Amino acid sequence: MQKLKQIYEGKAKKLYETENADLLIQEFKDDATAFDATKRGTIMNKGVINNKLSEKIFGLLEKAGIPTHFEKRLNDREMLVKKVKIVPIEVTIRNIVAGGMAKLLGLEEGIILKEPVLEYHYKEDKLHDPLINDYHIKALGVATEKELETIAKYSFKINEILNKFFDSKSLILVDFKLEFGRYKGKVILADEVSPDTCRLWDKTTKEKLDKDRFRRDLGNVEEAYQEVLRRVLE
Ligand code: 5GP
Repeated sequence: MQKLKQIYEGKAKKLYETENADLLIQEFKDDATAFDATKRGTIMNKGVINNKLSEKIFGLLEKAGIPTHFEKRLNDREMLVKKVKIVPIEVTIRNIVAGGMAKLLGLEEGIILKEPVLEYHYKEDKLHDPLINDYHIKALGVATEKELETIAKYSFKINEILNKFFDSKSLILVDFKLEFGRYKGKVILADEVSPDTCRLWDKTTKEKLDKDRFRRDLGNVEEAYQEVLRRVLE
């Protein structure tokens, strides 16, 4: 599949048109940003690792009946994906208190939640991706009630599937962020699923094996991503 015009460059990925108007090439970069891109750096081989991890996870989700934008991995850094119109909300699912929820509510990191929490954040860096609720989303026409129902249903199902999967790899899925897109009238999962977008802790040691190592300058960032890939593919 030939790479044509670049149509988007984000913090971690680039998108290119292909000769098929319905398909894009998604290229994963090594660039890492945090705190609304005020912190910038590079995680060696992150693009290669996240491409392979996302391939594995999208495959797993498709098998379980979740429609995704994933078509196939093309090479180390690129995958072929369906061209979607991204719904401008970030869906966060939390199983354990960490990051934004710990800060918002003044809670200790590590509290196990009685049930998963779903949050919507409006995707707008300038506003620091503010927390919004389903009323904001419907009232502002960001998504319809039916789309939101589908998004919530898929997100909780994805949480169940990934919780089981990561548990089998001795990893705890603390929380994660999803993005959905519209494709031929339906909502499907888009973006990526990787240690950039999930918090993953080692089940025994509780060591952080995700982007928090970069955010919090914990060191061994590439090693942590490699370890997740090794466990996921084993
Ligand atoms: P928090 O809201 O605690 O910062 O993030 C919750 C989860 O969503 C974490 O797993 C985090 O990695 C992911 N997440 C939230 N916002 C973003 C974002 O803008 N980019 C990426 N890569 N992940 C995010």
